[in-house]
Amino acid sequence: MWAPPIEPGTMAEANGSAYQLFIDGAEIPASRGERATLTDPATGEPIADLAIGGREDARHAMEAAERAFRESGWAAEDGSARARTLRRLADLLEAEAESIARLETRNMGKPLRESRGDLQYVVRTLEYVGGLADKIQGETIPVPGPRLAYTLREPLGVTVHIAPWNYPLLLAVRSVAPALAAGNAVVLKPASLTPLTAIAFARLAHRAGIPKGILNVVVGPGKSVGEALALDPRCRSISFTGSGEIGLRIAEIAAQRVIPVTLELGGKSPVIVFPDADLDRAAKGIGHGIFGNAGQMCWAASRLIVHESVHAPLLEKLRAIADATKLGPGLEDGIEMGPLVSADQAVRVLEYVRSAVSDGGVLVAGGDRPAEPRLAHGHFVRPTVLDQVPGESRAVREEIFGPVLSVVSFKEIEDAIRIANDTRYGLFAAMWTKDLATAHTVSRRLEAGMVSINEAPNTFPQTPFGGFKESGIGFEQGTKVLESYTRRKNVIVNVAIPRKKAGA
Ligand code: NAD
Repeated sequence: MWAPPIEPGTMAEANGSAYQLFIDGAEIPASRGERATLTDPATGEPIADLAIGGREDARHAMEAAERAFRESGWAAEDGSARARTLRRLADLLEAEAESIARLETRNMGKPLRESRGDLQYVVRTLEYVGGLADKIQGETIPVPGPRLAYTLREPLGVTVHIAPWNYPLLLAVRSVAPALAAGNAVVLKPASLTPLTAIAFARLAHRAGIPKGILNVVVGPGKSVGEALALDPRCRSISFTGSGEIGLRIAEIAAQRVIPVTLELGGKSPVIVFPDADLDRAAKGIGHGIFGNAGQMCWAASRLIVHESVHAPLLEKLRAIADATKLGPGLEDGIEMGPLVSADQAVRVLEYVRSAVSDGGVLVAGGDRPAEPRLAHGHFVRPTVLDQVPGESRAVREEIFGPVLSVVSFKEIEDAIRIANDTRYGLFAAMWTKDLATAHTVSRRLEAGMVSINEAPNTFPQTPFGGFKESGIGFEQGTKVLESYTRRKNVIVNVAIPRKKAGA
C-alpha cells in the first residue's frame, strides 16, 4: 500500500497536546475516561494531557491485535511486502525526526542532540529489521528413509512489548520492529512517564500502511495494564525492558503461561582502564558512558576500575569533564545534560550519593543539585564522581540510574577482572588499553553480554544487545533477532513411491 509523503512536523502533535490510546487503528479515549497531565522534567510545566488506560483497554487492544493477526493478511503477506511497509515507516519517521525528537526531549528531558541520535537509531533499526523480513527461512533436514523433512518459521501471533522511560521510542521500537517484520500483531505498553513518542510512532505506522490492529499502544499503569497484557491468553510472547524487580514478575507470568520472554534488565557496568590507555580519550568515553542521558542507561558504565599508576591523572580529567558539563533544559542550544526524568528519580540518586559518602567514598565532583536558580524547578543532579567507595556500599552494588560514577583503583590485572565481575549484573563492560593481548584476553573473562574496547558504550541495530546474569534473558538486535518472534514447525513428508501391484 502506498502512502503519500507527509508535511514534516505534522504527526508528532497531530492533536495538539492531547494524546489518546492507539487501538485498532484509531485514537480513542480510555474506556473509563481517565486522563493525566504530563509535565516537562526540566521546567515542571504541563506539556500534554493524556488518556490513561486500564484493564478493559488492555483487553480491547489484545482483541484487536488477535483479530488483525487472523484477518488483516499481515502475517500471510510475502515478507518483502512487510519489508516495504517498514521501509516506508522508516522514511516517514525520518521526515518527522525533528518534531518527534523535540517531543521526546520535552517529555523525557534528554538534550535534543541525544533525542536526534535516538531518532536516527530508530530509523536505522526499521531499515535493518525490514531488510530481514523476507529472509525468514527454514531448513531441510536429512532423515532416514524416503522422506522430506523441513522446518517452517511462523509468526507467534500477538506479541506484548513493555518499555521503560529512559529511551522511550528507541527501546520500544527495538523489539516492536522485529516482531512486526516477522508478521506478528503487536501491543505496546510504553512507560507511563514517557508515552508520547510511542503514540506519534503508531500514527506514522498507520500512515505507512501497517494494517489497523497490527500495532496498538496502550498507556497505563504497569500493575494493571502491563500485567493484563502479559496475562491475556492471546499473548504469545512478552518482550520486557525495565527493572529487575518487574522483570522477575514478568518471568513468573511467562512461566505460568508457558510463553517465551525476552528480558532486558539493569546493569552495574565496569570500565577498566589499564596503564597504557590514552587517558584523554578514555576520560571522554567514560564521561559519555556515565553522564550521557544523565546516567539513566541500563548499561551505564558506573564503576570505574583504574590502574593505580594512572588513577590521579584520570580522576582529574573526569573531575574537569563533570564540572564543565552544561546542564539545562534539553531544548536549549549547547546543553550537554538534561534533568532526570522525575522528582523521585532525582531524590533517589542523591540518596545513593549520600550513602556512598557515609560509607567512606570521597566526593570528587557534583553530588548535589545545580545552584542556578533557573534550574530550580527541574529535576537536575550534577555529574558526580565518587572515589574509593567501598565495594560493599549500596552505591557500588545497586543500579543508581543517574549520573554517578564510583571509582576504585587496582594493582594487578587479576584484581581488575575480579572487581569487574563482582556484581549480580552482566550487561556491559568496557576497557581502555592499547595492548591487543590484554584487550582480547580480558574480554573473554568479563561476565558481560557486551564489551567495548577503547570506546564509550556503543551498539548498532546489527549487533546483539543482551545481558548475562541478572541483566536478562535473550537479546534484541542482530540478524538472529527474528528467531525470538517466530516459532519453528517441523514437517515430515513420506515421499515413498507406492509399489505397483503384481499384474497391474
Ligand atoms: P520499570 O521496571 O519500573 O518499568 C518498565 C515498564 O514496566 C514500564 O512500562 C512499567 O509501566 C511496566 N511495569 C511496571 N510494573 C509492571 C508490572 N507489574 N507488570 C507489567 N509491567 C509493569 O523500569 P523503568 O523504571 O521504566 O526503567 C528503568 C529500568 O530499566 C532500569 O533498571 C534499567 O536498567 C532498565 N533498562 C534496561 C535496558 C536493557 O536493554 N537492558 C534498557 C533500558 C532500561
